[in-house]
Formats: sequence, structure tokens, C-alpha cells
Amino acid sequence: MLEIQGLTSHYGRIQALEGVDLTIAEGELVALVGANGAGKTTLLRCISGVQPVTGGRILFEGRDITRAAPQSRVALGICQVPEGRQVFGPLSVEDNLKLGAFRRRGKRVADDLERMYTRFPVLKEKRKQPAGTLSGGQQQMLAICRALMAHPRLLLLDEPSMGLAPLLVGEIFNTVELLKEQGTTLFLVEQNAYAALGIADRGYVLETGGVVLSDTGAALLENARVKEAYLGL
Ligand code: ATP
Repeated sequence: MLEIQGLTSHYGRIQALEGVDLTIAEGELVALVGANGAGKTTLLRCISGVQPVTGGRILFEGRDITRAAPQSRVALGICQVPEGRQVFGPLSVEDNLKLGAFRRRGKRVADDLERMYTRFPVLKEKRKQPAGTLSGGQQQMLAICRALMAHPRLLLLDEPSMGLAPLLVGEIFNTVELLKEQGTTLFLVEQNAYAALGIADRGYVLETGGVVLSDTGAALLENARVKEAYLGL
């Protein structure tokens, strides 16, 4: 579904990505792990189109989208849940969800809302409340649900567990697994390597702008280099 070939990206003279190769097949859950500053966020921003690419190519379902505008990537079904949740605090939970579906209309949107509420009853309970009054974990769930309202083909998740209490981290990862079971293709960027690789079909390890390892999630969890550098074992 997604194929990244020799991707490079710069901030001025600083090279943030140095020839990244990566693929994601339809229905897969692929994790990207790496330390602070490795280039994980930059890679996601290149895929969603808000960060300029200086070399290489990004193909989505065989189509070259390397220079496509962010909104045309959204139209193709690529949707990003940004780091730090970023729900619209003063708007109600329900309005946040509806905004996710702004490109769609009508009864289908109402059906989707009901589906989200069934899946996450706490969002239903608080649907009239300003989103800013939700807990951190609930805001993260809302941000993911808002993205799902757009019916993405590929969902990009940037550090969904960041800053959450351990109990909520578990809840977020359960949610990500649920999405996979329902057929969403997912690219999960995480500093929590243990949890991410534990649920991923495959994973990539990024160091200083380049992929240094890629394998199944299970194999990476057993990899000596991963254990030492990312799992603290
Ligand atoms: P984190 O987990 O901290 O978000 P990351 O793996 O996502 O880290 P990036 O944010 O993609 O890493 O950063 C990759 C490199 O690019 C780093 O060396 C960082 O200092 C640099 N960088 C990121 N954003 C900018 C910017 N706006 N201007 C200049 N350099 C930047």
C-alpha cells in the first residue's frame, strides 16, 4: 500500500532523513521505533505531506505522491493523528468527531458516530462536554476516533502513548489492536518500543535518520540490539 524509497528530508542544512526505505502492506500494523531525534516525526510528516522531501519517492497504492499536496493525500485516505493529541479543546467531543468527517455527509456520518460511541462509551457519556475537559487518555482516544471518522485507508499515529499514565497506555494500545482487527492499515510511531513491537506485524528501527533494523515485531523484541537500546534489558 505504501512504499518509501530512499527518502531524504532536511531542515535547512540539517539532514533529518538519510535514504529511508520502508513498506506497509494493506491491513498491516507496522511500528517505527527509535530514540528522540531519530527522525520519526519527520518521516510521518513527509508521508502526510507537511514536510518537504529532498530526495527519494513515496508511492501510495502505486501512485507517486512525493510532491502531492497534504489535502490530496487526505483525499486518497492517508490520515495522521498528530503527536500531542491536538483535539479542539473548546469544541464539544461530538463536534470534534464530526470535524473528522467534514469531507463526508449525511446518515453515514451519524452511523459512524454511533459506532464510535458504542466502541468508546466514555465519549458518548461526555459528548456534549468541551473536549478540553477530557483526561489525557480520553483526548487521545478522541483524536484517534476523529481520524477514523474520515474513513482512512492508512492511519498514521504519532506517539499515541506519550505522556499517558500506564493504565491508559494499555487502553490506547488495545484500541490500536482493535483498529487493526477491523482492517485499518496502521503505521505506529512510538518511543514505547516494547508495547509497539508487541502488537506490530512488522517493525523498523530508525537511528539518526536511517533504518538500521527491520523485521517482524516479535523478532525485533528478541533482537539483542533492540533489547539493549530500546527495551532497557
Ligand atoms: P521525537 O521523538 O523527539 O519527536 P523524532 O524521532 O520524531 O524525535 P524528529 O522530530 O523527526 O525526530 O527530528 C529529527 C531531526 O531533525 C532531529 O535531529 C531534530 O533536531 C531535527 N529537527 C526536527 N525538527 C526540526 C526543525 N523544525 N528545525 C530544525 N531541525 C529540526
